[in-house]
Amino acid sequence: MTRQDEKSEGRNDRRSEGRGGPRIAVVGGGIGGLVLAGMLHRHGIAATVYERDGGLDARAQGGTLDLHPESGQRALDELGLTEGFRAEARPEGENLRILDPAGRTLAHHAPEPGTGSRPEIDRGALRKLLLSRVPETAVSWGNRVTGVEALPAGGHRLTFADGSRADCDLLVGADGARSRLRALVTQARPVHLSAYLQLTITDADRRRPRVAAFVGPGSLMALGDNLNLGAQRSGDGTIRVSVSLRTDAGWIDRQRFGDAGWTETVARLRTLYAGWAPELTGLIDACDPGSLVGRNIEALPVGTRWRSRPDVTLLGDAAHLMPPLGEGANQAMLDGVLLARAIARHGADLSAAVAAYETEMFDRAAEVGAETAEMERAGLAPDAAERMAAFFRQA
Ligand SMILES: Cc1cc2nc3c(=O)[nH]c(=O)nc-3n(C[C@H](O)[C@H](O)[C@H](O)COP(=O)(O)OP(=O)(O)OC[C@H]3O[C@@H](n4cnc5c(N)ncnc54)[C@H](O)[C@@H]3O)c2cc1C
Repeated sequence: MTRQDEKSEGRNDRRSEGRGGPRIAVVGGGIGGLVLAGMLHRHGIAATVYERDGGLDARAQGGTLDLHPESGQRALDELGLTEGFRAEARPEGENLRILDPAGRTLAHHAPEPGTGSRPEIDRGALRKLLLSRVPETAVSWGNRVTGVEALPAGGHRLTFADGSRADCDLLVGADGARSRLRALVTQARPVHLSAYLQLTITDADRRRPRVAAFVGPGSLMALGDNLNLGAQRSGDGTIRVSVSLRTDAGWIDRQRFGDAGWTETVARLRTLYAGWAPELTGLIDACDPGSLVGRNIEALPVGTRWRSRPDVTLLGDAAHLMPPLGEGANQAMLDGVLLARAIARHGADLSAAVAAYETEMFDRAAEVGAETAEMERAGLAPDAAERMAAFFRQA
């Protein structure tokens, strides 16, 4: 990948020429983009990741992810990171209780030690592990892609926020839920589903021992009245409390977050959860003042696909944004593995590589996307607790 810095008239070339192979640009150094870059490197194929964040610690990484054997764990295995994963993972994080608004436990998923298959790992720890498999020079931090132009002879020219540019033969959009690159291949747009608020209880065992004991070693989910209230432990002793509600796409923008709106927000949440068991509403009361962040939850239409092109493709949320029900990161990781394998198998024939990857990815994403869409509907239904409990009893 050759980077042309307009200001330095090309002297700022900082990347390999793909060792004679295609010039591959990956936009987004999130979970999927880093798996792809690490896997390509393992196959001896050079690629450059362009990430808008200034570095791994540029922003808070959020909560924890359970990695599944057939997808997330498979990716770690193929990257030679199984040992590293075991050292960071928390098998006890799999512990999950489903409750109804009265505080009754309807299902308790608590695998015996050593028998669980989906251990949790903090998102920040996972990204650090993945980054360890990517050569330092292959990640270009602090580079936000602001424009993409198709080149007459094939391939693309990327423009960055600082005005610099780079050309590539294959462009991979790994730029997440709000992907800018998605529009290059499809008109499909994410559809609003719900509002999601997250609050935190730091140092929970010491500062809020009763609340921490109630949450247990993993997570809990209370459902009913078209609302969810969740609580999940991270490896750093933080408990993240989440609130999901069906509401319009503008609701989040109308809220006042941070310290200024804290009292108002807590009062609003108390009203929302009026009549719920005190140990559940007590989760909200226990949160650190000002810790609230909010976002809209969206998903791409299930079965989104596009006509394959040799010079551009997508992976992860950019390709198949799903409701956050335990699959997005896992599928993004599997995409990274399978796209790298296809590129390695087909050599210079990028057309065949992209088509092979997309054929499998479209079918898999349609299947998993349909399952998560069904779970999302069930999770915010009036009888959500019973439906979720039944799901976990079968699992
Ligand atoms: C609340 C919540 C909980 C979730 N829980 C789970 C779970 O338990 N299990 C699970 O499997 N999944 C979960 N997910 C989904 C998971 O987070 C995503 O599916 C996953 O992160 C997708 O990976 P990705 O690499 O496609 O995108 P991301 O990890 O979002 O990475 C995209 C990257 O692209 C960068 N980027 C964006 N635009 C540009 C640009 N223009 N130029 C350069 N860089 C750019 C971003 O900075 C980011 O680093 C959850 C999601 C949410 C919202």
